[in-house]
Amino acid sequence: MNNRCKKGNRKKKNISLIRACRNHRAIGKSPEPKGKTETTGNMPIYIIQKHAARRLHYDLRLEMGGVLKSWAIPKEPPTVPGIKRLAVQVEDHSIDYATFEGVIPEGAYGAGTVEIWDSGNFQPIEVEENKIVLSINGKRLKGTFCLVRTKFQGSDKNWLFFKIKSKR
Ligand code: MN
Repeated sequence: MNNRCKKGNRKKKNISLIRACRNHRAIGKSPEPKGKTETTGNMPIYIIQKHAARRLHYDLRLEMGGVLKSWAIPKEPPTVPGIKRLAVQVEDHSIDYATFEGVIPEGAYGAGTVEIWDSGNFQPIEVEENKIVLSINGKRLKGTFCLVRTKFQGSDKNWLFFKIKSKR
């Protein structure tokens, strides 16, 4: 698939090459889901809701294990490689929340307007405790993306979300 990634080939060439190989290894893995326990028969749901709450943010939701795993992203999600966004994991939402658009009333948690910013489906490539690699098929976000848990500010709710350069 990628000769540069073969063991012994051009070893220690440079750091960026090693990084590229790591990415290729991840991308080359079987698309068989590991963390996902239920299927709807279709590709799992991917959605981003733009949420004009007290502080504007973007809610990334991925259908995994029969729920929508959710992350709040304080800035516009990355459409190209090279941009890393903080993504704060929030409580799981039920699957039917994926189609929700509307106004959460004043006084309620998350009061403000919710609109669907992007939608489609995704294919899990690698699902681990601290890392999710996925192929997103949305309208705004397309391609291979990565979520990596960080210990940023000591919270295990903090992840980084970014697009990976893909040669698939
Ligand atoms: Mn929200």
